[in-house]
Amino acid sequence: MINIRRKTRKKAENWAQETAPSYIRLYRSGELTARAWRAQQIMENCRLCPRACGVHRLSGELGFCRSEAQPRVYKYKVHFGEEPPISGKRGSGIIFFSCCTLRCTYCQNAPMSHQGRGYSVSPERLAKIMLALQHSGCHNLNLVTPSHFLPGILQALNLAVGEGFVLPIVYNTSGYETLEVLNLLDGIVDIYLPDMKYGNADVARRYSSAPDYPRVNRAAVREMYRQVADLLVDDSGVAIRGLLIRHLVLPNGLAGTGKVMRFIGQEISRRVHVSLMSQYIPLWSAREDPLLSRPISQTEYGQALDELEKAGLVRGWIQELAEKSLDS
Ligand code: SF4
Repeated sequence: MINIRRKTRKKAENWAQETAPSYIRLYRSGELTARAWRAQQIMENCRLCPRACGVHRLSGELGFCRSEAQPRVYKYKVHFGEEPPISGKRGSGIIFFSCCTLRCTYCQNAPMSHQGRGYSVSPERLAKIMLALQHSGCHNLNLVTPSHFLPGILQALNLAVGEGFVLPIVYNTSGYETLEVLNLLDGIVDIYLPDMKYGNADVARRYSSAPDYPRVNRAAVREMYRQVADLLVDDSGVAIRGLLIRHLVLPNGLAGTGKVMRFIGQEISRRVHVSLMSQYIPLWSAREDPLLSRPISQTEYGQALDELEKAGLVRGWIQELAEKSLDS
């Protein structure tokens, strides 16, 4: 005879183990401390992003991103505007970090990314912010453009876990990441939320000073998928682990949507969740750019949807007049 109660308990334990944030194990083994230390070493001659400026951030030298060594927070809050598995019913605990390693000319958050508005936080203060977000009841910790501050973030996470922090981590990134940094995040990040901004090097050079973006971004997304695979959600549809790719459609086909979708469908997986965003508006210096100075048209978004379909991508979200799930 099968002891149903024991079996049910066993299943619950397995589920709890499966859904527990992966960094808890690293914290217990001391590996999380070691990762924070390794990130700090990378920042000494900074190569925390593919620009590899080589500046000594700990001595106050500034690279392309103009970031100091200590994390700088623009704001933090419980946020309900992310994709449904990220926001859920109780919201996502989002921390917007100041400065950026891309600084796109059309940035939709320029005060934060270009102007570096925000305030410096110690690892202790950042740990308290993480715990406060958890205390507010949100589903996850959502780190927005975090990589240039990775050492301080990992130090803070280590402190927060010691105080009972257990939320899954969403790594909300421009997708301009090195494999060295992603290796440090292996087993720490539960949900990767990268952009795939460009399919063409010339466009990436013109608008983000990063001609290597398509190549670097593809390698990064491959590695993210290797680490966390397809999106896994709990019974209420909230993400526990996995990859969710964002692609912002730009006017005049500048985002190279077809190339990006084909890459995802052919070289990552057709099961990957994709968020195809239509919300572009000309901000910052994009207002003066002849190709970027208007929102996208219905026709352009329709073409992007065709590319998504041709690539065989059927999981995720599209935006039109109203947000719509690909599954509906
Ligand atoms: S994180 Fe900043 S300083 Fe470091 S390599 Fe990237 S742009 Fe340069």
